Amino acid sequence: MTTGAGPHWNVSINFAGLLAEIDEDGPAAAVLAGVLRGLDPATELPDEQVIEAAMLYSRLVEPTPDLVPDEVAWAEYADRAARARYGRELIQIHLDHGDIDAHLIQRMELAEQLHAQGCCDEAVRQAEATWRDWINRYDPTGPELRWIMLQFVSMIIACHRIDEAQALRSFAKFELPTSEDPIKAGYDAFIVTVPAMLVHHRPVCARQNSTATAASGLRGVC
Ligand SMILES: [Zn+2]
Repeated sequence: MTTGAGPHWNVSINFAGLLAEIDEDGPAAAVLAGVLRGLDPATELPDEQVIEAAMLYSRLVEPTPDLVPDEVAWAEYADRAARARYGRELIQIHLDHGDIDAHLIQRMELAEQLHAQGCCDEAVRQAEATWRDWINRYDPTGPELRWIMLQFVSMIIACHRIDEAQALRSFAKFELPTSEDPIKAGYDAFIVTVPAMLVHHRPVCARQNSTATAASGLRGVC
């Protein structure tokens, strides 16, 4: 994985931005196409300048079959790269400010994003570390912890790590919420999304299908 952003990128992005401001969308897109053309959106690292160029390029260009650089691929790059880059920054900012709850919630969110991209090993490591930090800090039977555990378990199940998921449920002594339980409504809403999540995760799962995952290019920013 590489980042191809060079010292000239600032000038090109600023120039394209100025052109876009005066509604010269075509020339602005051409400037951005010039800097993006040599890069691969599937393998490019989450770089601030590349994200900015990709976002602007995607806004300026109508989706067109066979367009080079591929507008849709760069829009997808901008979305997942921005989440990966700024999600991590937000995690550190919460920690620096001593807001541990927000820090842990953001870490679990990052784990879910990594998992959706097919970065399964890193996602599960991140989710497990978050879950353990939460256990060490808070009431192990509290609603927040059960919610974090549910997110963690659903990731492991989606990766077909069924034995580990059962062991975790057993270790955490998780029981289905009763009708008076404060997490009941959230649990019911969450459970109905799980089958769709399993289906969507299957083709990108690094654990289940490494060949298809590599071919999809979704792991380019793991
Ligand atoms: Zn997986």
